[in-house]
Amino acid sequence: MDFSLNDEQKMMIETVRRFIAEELQPLEDEVEEKGFLDNAKSQAIHTKGKALGLYGMNMPAELGGGGLSNLDRILCEEQFGHTTDILIRRAFGNVYEPLLHCQGDQVERWLKPAVEGTRTCAITITEPGAGSDAAGIKTHAKKTDQGWVLNGAKHFISDGEWSDFFLVSAKTGDKEISMFMVDKGLAGFTVGKDQKMMGLRGTPHLELFFDNVQLDDACLLGEAGQGFKLAMGALNVVRLAQVGARAVGKATHVCELMVNWASERKQFNTRIGDFQMVQQMIADSVIEINAARWMVYHAAWMLDQGMDAREQIAMVKVQASETLGRVVDRAVQVFGGMGFCKELPIERYYRDARIYRIYDGTSEIHRGVIAKSAMKKGAVLFDVNR
Ligand SMILES: Cc1cc2nc3c(=O)[nH]c(=O)nc-3n(C[C@H](O)[C@H](O)[C@H](O)COP(=O)(O)OP(=O)(O)OC[C@H]3O[C@@H](n4cnc5c(N)ncnc54)[C@H](O)[C@@H]3O)c2cc1C
Repeated sequence: MDFSLNDEQKMMIETVRRFIAEELQPLEDEVEEKGFLDNAKSQAIHTKGKALGLYGMNMPAELGGGGLSNLDRILCEEQFGHTTDILIRRAFGNVYEPLLHCQGDQVERWLKPAVEGTRTCAITITEPGAGSDAAGIKTHAKKTDQGWVLNGAKHFISDGEWSDFFLVSAKTGDKEISMFMVDKGLAGFTVGKDQKMMGLRGTPHLELFFDNVQLDDACLLGEAGQGFKLAMGALNVVRLAQVGARAVGKATHVCELMVNWASERKQFNTRIGDFQMVQQMIADSVIEINAARWMVYHAAWMLDQGMDAREQIAMVKVQASETLGRVVDRAVQVFGGMGFCKELPIERYYRDARIYRIYDGTSEIHRGVIAKSAMKKGAVLFDVNR
């Protein structure tokens, strides 16, 4: 068992860390204040992010992506947690794994432009009536001689405003779900309002409406009926990378601020970090962050070995997101009134952290998955000898 990182990995982490500190963190306050990222600034960080060679880092190098292993990707994603969602989307993209099922002309039309960053893609599964129950969607596509006709509605679609096309899950039979690539601008496809959120300022979350949208046959991704598998497969990696690893990074960032504050802030002529009750909040945060980090790395390592890591990723999703929640809550407490005050970013981290327990499968859904597996497979989930 080797827990060490090699020199290349350390250099990659250092490079991403420096880029985030120099190029992205300075934009955070402006995005928070305005509620959006200025187009020119967006373009600038996109160009600089691409120059680092990490745009579409999860995509194969032959396609122009970063070609990183799961573990290397996770190491970058952890650093991404040190800044906000929208800045990472613009600088490093968000290229979803199901696109790798593109074949023939689909590669030039959707996959390559997504990897190159000339077209942006969003994933659209959730509907007003179907969230946790992702198979309970009402959006449907009917086969015609010319292709498909799509009808339905989606909501909460992250980055929908900036996106050029959408991976849309739709029923193509009573029990059959397929995935389609749907270009913005098609007749009958309208974008609704931006649904304002508690946090994640700068990232729009949109409603989408499909009213008899005509799709050609090439819009079907993979085989008809494979859509649910494609969507769930994609979300598995997304929740490890964009939820698990980023939650660990964000918790680390907040913990660093908490430790610095506790080292400098004095009350009763004493650093507050010398009070045992404050120390407990720091110690518990450090312990939990380290535990979550190793779970994230282990799950990524399993994926790199070709192992099935679904249950481990479900555990990561719960552990990392809830760790982040506890760390930001303690940080507000350690900062006292300044933790609640908008003059410092702590209250923003507190708001931004809350979604981690909800999207990409709520804690309850993942606990259900873990418990069912444990009851079915027994100790295999937690006994190292089996
Ligand atoms: C900021 C944000 C960004 C998002 N981005 C996207 C996106 O880009 N694309 C996309 O497709 N979706 C996106 N979503 C949707 C997100 O994945 C869903 O909100 C999430 O899956 C939960 O679904 P829901 O909101 O409908 O809640 P519900 O499913 O209605 O759940 C409500 C409550 O009931 C509980 N519950 C439900 N079923 C069970 C069960 N079987 N057992 C125990 N408890 C249960 C849940 O845990 C939760 O506590 C986003 C959401 C938000 C808020």
